[in-house]
Amino acid sequence: MTTTLTLVQGDITRQRADAIVNAANSSLLGGGGVDGAIHRRGGPAILAECRALRASCYSSGLPTGQAVATTAGELDALWVIHTVGPVHSTTEDRSGLLVSCYRESLRVADGLGARTVAFPAISTGVYRWPMEDAARIAVETVRTTETAVEEVRFVLFDEQAYAVFTGQLR
Ligand code: ADP
Repeated sequence: MTTTLTLVQGDITRQRADAIVNAANSSLLGGGGVDGAIHRRGGPAILAECRALRASCYSSGLPTGQAVATTAGELDALWVIHTVGPVHSTTEDRSGLLVSCYRESLRVADGLGARTVAFPAISTGVYRWPMEDAARIAVETVRTTETAVEEVRFVLFDEQAYAVFTGQLR
C-alpha cells in the first residue's frame, strides 16, 4: 500500500479528513496553538472525551510520543488523534519521541480504519522544535511507516512552514 503525502498551507481545524492530529499536551485538557484551535472549533464533546480518557486510562497524563483518539465533535472529521510531542532540547536528542508521535498516530489511525489523516507540524510551536528538523523527521517517518492510510496531509499554518515542508518533500 502506498501512502500519498500532500501539503497544504492553512488551518487544520478547517480540514476535511477522516482524522486530524492534535499536537496536544500531556494533560489532554487543552492548551494553546493547534490544541486550543481544535477544542474551540470542535466544541465541548472533544474535551469531554479527553476528560474521560484522562480519568480512565491516563490518570498521570498521556505520555510524550503516544497517541489516543476521540471523536471530532463539530469538526469536518470523524476523529481527532491526540499526540504529545516532545519539547525540543539542545542538550538531549529527543527525536525518537517525535518519530513516535507520527508512528503512533498512524497506528491509531489504522486501528480506526482512517484513510485520510491531517497532521500539523508537531512540536514546532511552544515546544520550539526547529521547523527544518521537524519537517525532515515528519516526512521521513511517514515515508517509512507501514500503514493503510492512503493520504497523509501535512497542514502548515504559515508560509514559512509550508516552504520548509515543500523542500523536504522534494
Ligand atoms: P507544540 O506544543 O507541539 O509545539 P503548537 O500548537 O504550539 O504545538 O504548534 C505546533 C505547530 O502548529 C506550529 O508550527 C504552529 O504554528 C502550528 N499551528 C498553530 N495553530 C494551527 C492551526 N490552527 N492549524 C495548523 N497548524 C497550526
